[in-house]
Amino acid sequence: MTSSASSAQALVARFGDLLLRYQAAIRRLQWVMVVIYACLLTVPLLLPRPTHTDYVWNNVARFAQFVFWGVWWPFIILATALVGRFWCGILCPEGALSEFASQRGAGRAIPGWMKWSGWPVVSFVSTTVYGQLTSIYQYPKPAALLLGGSTFAAIIIGARYGKAKRVWCRFLCPVNGVFGTVSKIAPLHFRVDPDGWRAGAQQQGRSNAVNCAPLIPIKTMQGASACHMCGRCSGYRGAIRLSWRNPARDIVHGSGRLASTWETVLIVPVLLGLVPAALHWSDSGLFRMIRLWLVERCLDLHLAWPLSLRLPWWILTDYPLENDVMTSVDAGALLVLLSVSVAAATIIFGIPLATCTMILRMRGRFLHHLAQALIPLGSACLFSGLLSLTVSQLRSDGVIIPYSDLFRGGIVLAAAGWSAALVFQIGALCDTRLATRMCATLIMAVPITSFSVAWIAAFLS
Ligand code: SF4
Repeated sequence: MTSSASSAQALVARFGDLLLRYQAAIRRLQWVMVVIYACLLTVPLLLPRPTHTDYVWNNVARFAQFVFWGVWWPFIILATALVGRFWCGILCPEGALSEFASQRGAGRAIPGWMKWSGWPVVSFVSTTVYGQLTSIYQYPKPAALLLGGSTFAAIIIGARYGKAKRVWCRFLCPVNGVFGTVSKIAPLHFRVDPDGWRAGAQQQGRSNAVNCAPLIPIKTMQGASACHMCGRCSGYRGAIRLSWRNPARDIVHGSGRLASTWETVLIVPVLLGLVPAALHWSDSGLFRMIRLWLVERCLDLHLAWPLSLRLPWWILTDYPLENDVMTSVDAGALLVLLSVSVAAATIIFGIPLATCTMILRMRGRFLHHLAQALIPLGSACLFSGLLSLTVSQLRSDGVIIPYSDLFRGGIVLAAAGWSAALVFQIGALCDTRLATRMCATLIMAVPITSFSVAWIAAFLS
């Protein structure tokens, strides 16, 4: 290791130690975040709806909407990709409240149903779809219901299960799976040195145990996916340090090798299918076509109610004063569009993944390892899609961010190139012949390129 590399390692290791030393200050910061979060959720509920003369800078409701959807979410995703899950361990108000409740709660054992590995997918999909049906990005009531409901559930789970743990964050949080997936490409992680661990045990005897709130078996921790980067284990037994790493390492040589079916489901049909459709459906020509087709079928069948039935705002968007009402037909068209997008992503990426697995003469779990190569693309799709909320909200207030589309397109293309390179690197683990690896990479490059071009075209249109 060069001296500049080792001093960079020493610097981040020191930062990890600082996190450990200033846990009390972090706790206070978390309470500040709780107050800000509560204000952003509740204050807009008490204010009249913004008019066309209200802007982000002169109206609290517009400001809260912009902070939540234009800043908070896109930049948490970006930060998770750049530095790991520091958001979860240091700033997240929901995690802090859940752990606070758990410290004083019943401390029951975690039930088996909660450990089902499909929850990260099911909870993310259901909250994403529900958020679109109720127009969560536009109105404070569904935002308060969904985010406030999630926080309430986090507190209840904390109060019942575990002792000073974040059981909610580990098993049920709707964004846990996405954050865990995106953090695999972060160049920072808490590295566990097995030799150092053994030596530390011999030298120090039995050390005080670390309270790892997200319940990670620290000694055998693989990658940074589940780690909340809270810093509490920094320096433990002299074996755990915050370290730089090659951002491809976890996917190619680390936890990527142990990837499961649910992780592939989260990456392919969800991040590359559901997310782009959910973030872009209102501008989609396909949505309009599906809606028109459904309207014509209703007229053919003399069914008037699906065209006019209004449901409460907590089921479907219902703001007649804003001229914004989602009928049953609109909701049906949206659900069909989301299903089509999920099915298309599954086919477009699933067939090449299966073909590459065969070409590389592998079976079973290897397909899931190969699917991990798509994490950069899925992360870029999510970030660029959320960034469109930032851009469109500012644009509606007359603020144009120069080169924002170019920036988003550049990120998607760079991520696409990285995903193709990861396919090549993963292929090297099982077939050293250059021609075979090239062939597999070219096969995967087809859906990666097609998706990237289509996604860039969608947000440029
Ligand atoms: S392994 Fe646990 S204790 Fe250590 S930094 Fe990660 S979340 Fe915190």
